Amino acid sequence: MDKEKFGLNTICTHTGEIIDEQFKGAVSPIYMSTSYQFENVDVKRYPRYFNTPNQEYLSKKIAALEHAEAAMIFGSGMAAVSTTFLAFLKAGDHIVIQNPLYGGTSNFVREELPKYGIEFTFTEGYQVSDFEKAIQPNTKLIHIETPSNPLLTITDIKAIANLAKSRNIVTTIDNTFASPVNQNPIDLGIDIVIHSATKYLGGHSDILAGAVAASEAHIKTIWHVGKNLGGSLSDFMVWMLERSMKTLGLRIKAQSKNAKKLAKYLNKHPDVKHVYYPGLKGHPEHKLAKSQMKSFGAMMSFELNENINASKFLESLQLIKPSMSLAGVESTMLLPALTSHALLSQEERNKLGISDGLIRFSLGIESKKDLIKDIEHALIKVK
Ligand SMILES: *Cc1c(COP(=O)(O)O)cnc(C)c1O
Repeated sequence: MDKEKFGLNTICTHTGEIIDEQFKGAVSPIYMSTSYQFENVDVKRYPRYFNTPNQEYLSKKIAALEHAEAAMIFGSGMAAVSTTFLAFLKAGDHIVIQNPLYGGTSNFVREELPKYGIEFTFTEGYQVSDFEKAIQPNTKLIHIETPSNPLLTITDIKAIANLAKSRNIVTTIDNTFASPVNQNPIDLGIDIVIHSATKYLGGHSDILAGAVAASEAHIKTIWHVGKNLGGSLSDFMVWMLERSMKTLGLRIKAQSKNAKKLAKYLNKHPDVKHVYYPGLKGHPEHKLAKSQMKSFGAMMSFELNENINASKFLESLQLIKPSMSLAGVESTMLLPALTSHALLSQEERNKLGISDGLIRFSLGIESKKDLIKDIEHALIKVK
């Protein structure tokens, strides 16, 4: 069969599986060895070299999903981000980074890059002109995130890729929120795709991992730095991630469908002031999202009317869990002002449009009617 042409769910289930020749087991065996006999001098397998059998084979699944030549798996999303940035930047170089952005990436840039003599500029906004303004003669990397956390802004992927190409700048994208099921940035000209696999690739809130997908040449560059920084993932967790990714297509489709329905429900609700979801016609970049995403994803944010206390609303939920992470099969909510964006000043949050009452909603796979019932219940309790 032509493995190049496998459909999404076949890739999720089968691509990169290790065939158990010895016992004919149904799933990939786990190779926990940290020591391997030399096959020849060129292939030295060692977990920190990102090349154990489980790492090597699962990378094929991730590369196939992102339409990339190659991929690498990391011990966390931030290990993937930091290793990639440090692979393409040296003292005297400059990076343009999108604002708004995931807090951990922003902290890494602000706190660590100056120690290496690397300059950075956060964009004023997420329009192409904002990126153009931020580019300098020594800019070597442009990093974008779309949809972004927590307001679900949409950046024009193709336009940024073209802008960067015209200036010989490498592009990276954090594709965590969309997942490879909903968005394939390499097809739009982006060089390197980064994931926090802790989120949708893992999907069950029990794996901390990261991934990068790109051309063979770019992966080689990242590998050389990665083996020095040492951010690889244990083979047991790689195996867990493979297990989780078999249902990636099914999960994301169910979660995205739930999100679309709940966004419409909240948008019409008299107690809701505003819903931020790229799938709604009123979203400022709805058309752009439609052109570069397959579905609009399973993340949204919303604001309740001012007379309703958002913290009390979250405490009153019974099914939807108020919790820090996102993208699991269980629905969760949180207040970015008190959690993910608590380190920003009130003024910085206001500038980004993150109000104190903004609620970020990660949709799981539960039945829609139960999610709505939970929200209705909680609203009655707090009013
Ligand atoms: C969680 C997250 C990260 C960081 O990933 P970790 O696995 O927590 O290190 C990076 N980007 C986005 C968009 C995230 O949501």
